This record gives sequence, C-alpha cells and structure tokens, in this order.
Amino acid sequence: MKRGGFRQTAWAPAPKTVHQPLASAPNYASAVGATVPPIKKGEHLRNEDYRRAVASLPCCACGIVGYSQAAHANHGKGAGLKTDDRTCFALCCDRPGVKGCHPKFDQYELYPKAAAALVAEAWGADTRRKIQMMGLWPEGLPTYD
Ligand SMILES: [Zn+2]
Repeated sequence: MKRGGFRQTAWAPAPKTVHQPLASAPNYASAVGATVPPIKKGEHLRNEDYRRAVASLPCCACGIVGYSQAAHANHGKGAGLKTDDRTCFALCCDRPGVKGCHPKFDQYELYPKAAAALVAEAWGADTRRKIQMMGLWPEGLPTYD
C-alpha cells in the first residue's frame, strides 16, 4: 500500500511571544549583598551552614545527587589549610565500588593541576550563585566578591 506523504501545511511564522517578568518573581538583585557588607578575600571564612548548603547540591562533576561533600579548591592555600568556605563546591564522595569525584579532583585525576584551579574557581562562583538564588545563603555570612 502506498502511503501519502506528510500533509502539507502553509508555512506561517511562529506567533510572537512577549516575555514579561512574573509579578510574583522575587527580586534577588536587591536582596543579594544588601544587608551584609562584603569582606576582603584572604580572610578565609569558615561557615558550617554554608558547607552544608553546598553539600546539599548535586555533584558539580558528575551530577549525582545524595553523595555530595563541600570540596575546597586546592590552590591558594598553605599546607594543611583550607581555602575560604565560600569558594566550596559540591563533589561526590567515595562509595562502595565507586571512587568519588572529590578524591579524584583532589588527586588531579579529573583535571590536571592548572585546569583544576580554573575549574574550581568557576564551580565555586556557580555554587555561590546557586546558593543565593535558592535562598540558602546563611544569614549574616558576608558575600564573597
Ligand atoms: Zn561526582
């Protein structure tokens, strides 16, 4: 049996949609950094609530949910010192049969050292943005800029 082709339809441009901001959308721009003054880099702030918020996000490297730890960048710190918690990003931990992205990252198995520093900076900035947008930024914790 011979089938007919696809029915021809007259071409018409897609209707124009005008994107309006939602009336109920929160104005994050006014909330971010409004009440807490930014502090200088290098003060290496520690904040457990922030680390917990980071660990609640999916792994930055593989995307798995539920195994995240707050990972610190390995550059810009002295021996035995962690960098500022606000530069953390989520990486998954080891689990039975699987080496996690956190130990792989720390041992430069995900990226060579120079690339890892750049990736860590980007992941840290993206994580800060996500935590602010999700409303998880701990109260009283200064912004990082
Ligand atoms: Zn992972």
